[in-house]
Amino acid sequence: MNVSVPKETAAGERRVALVPEVAGRLVQDGVEVTVESGAGAGAHHPDAAYEEAGAKTGDGFSGDVIVKVAPPSADEIGRLAAGSVLIGFLQPLTAAETVRALADRGVTSFAMEAIPRITRAQSMDALSSQATVSGYRAALIAAQELPRFFPMLTTAAGTVRPAKVLVLGAGVAGLQAIATARRLGAVVQAFDVRSAVKEQIESLGARFLELDMGLEDAEAAGGYARQLTDEEQQRQRELLAEEIGKMDAVISTAAVPGRRAPLLVTEQAVKNMSPGSVIVDLAAETGGNCELTEPGETVVKEDVIIAGPVNLAASMPDHASSLYARNVQSLLGLMVKEGELSLDFDDEVIAGACITRDGQIVHEGAKQAAGVTA
Ligand code: NAD
Repeated sequence: MNVSVPKETAAGERRVALVPEVAGRLVQDGVEVTVESGAGAGAHHPDAAYEEAGAKTGDGFSGDVIVKVAPPSADEIGRLAAGSVLIGFLQPLTAAETVRALADRGVTSFAMEAIPRITRAQSMDALSSQATVSGYRAALIAAQELPRFFPMLTTAAGTVRPAKVLVLGAGVAGLQAIATARRLGAVVQAFDVRSAVKEQIESLGARFLELDMGLEDAEAAGGYARQLTDEEQQRQRELLAEEIGKMDAVISTAAVPGRRAPLLVTEQAVKNMSPGSVIVDLAAETGGNCELTEPGETVVKEDVIIAGPVNLAASMPDHASSLYARNVQSLLGLMVKEGELSLDFDDEVIAGACITRDGQIVHEGAKQAAGVTA
């Protein structure tokens, strides 16, 4: 059996799906690995490192299994053989055209985003591994853009008060942003609609921001947040606008899978902030948590610096790739028996992550997104 790794082609994508260390482990397990020349360059892995690990340099789309990071472009789908297996981020709930094209091509595809978030599959959870990277980077961007210190300083020239940072959404990225901002010495508060995270926020030395939203808990299936009603969202925005005005930096990470990011930071909230304050909107790609965010840009509006980074995990490609590669290795561990591909669709992880198979879209959410009716 052969696993192949193409060079990523999406703009700004510097990650690679397998790093040499993981490629070497697959080779030891009896799997042939073929890596496209230059595939690891963005993450600082030259072809020679893969070859030393026992992989070959060659066609990245030639494998029985092709492992990628970013969703495939139309051209890339054209290079996939019918009957091949594709593993990668496929955005099954939003990229309907990609999913349809994969089905039409006869590719058996598995989306890293669709791996069930159950204990057994934790080592395959690429959403978490990549969100860890983006949460960390978001806090660094906030510290970098803020024209003030994060930590409290006592100097001969006077005392500097610590920055006040508010993190909105305390999932994987938010918790990492909290931890990073705390390490830099900021005073951190955080808010989430899932009340279960209060304890996690506090264990990181931050304060849970209590908003009188009249909301019991908004946790839905799989540990995700449910979409709030229009009235709840309106109330949340009003209450937040006042709190945001007291902050030096806001890092927003709120998301609801498959939907536009909730709008939490209004233009009025931005106006309430003092000049020079910073907003880092990690939800920029899915519509933004802040009304004034411009995806992929850092803009100054109302004298507030608003950063809307996209694909932030790719900005730290070395560790992002090694974590991702381990997630992929772990998933392959379920798919490969004695060096041969063996897909057990009775396994809930394999079945849950499968998006297309035998020319059909088989994932419920992807079917809905693609408008496929039963
Ligand atoms: P996500 O990226 O979908 O969302 C980020 C955060 O935004 C979530 O914490 C969500 O509650 C929050 N949010 C949504 N709407 C909001 C609003 N209007 N205001 C404020 N916050 C809002 O989530 P994620 O980080 O991928 O995962 C969320 C949770 O899923 C985790 O914290 C965990 O509980 C669970 N999870 C479980 C496993 C596992 O069991 N293996 C693995 C990973 C995550």
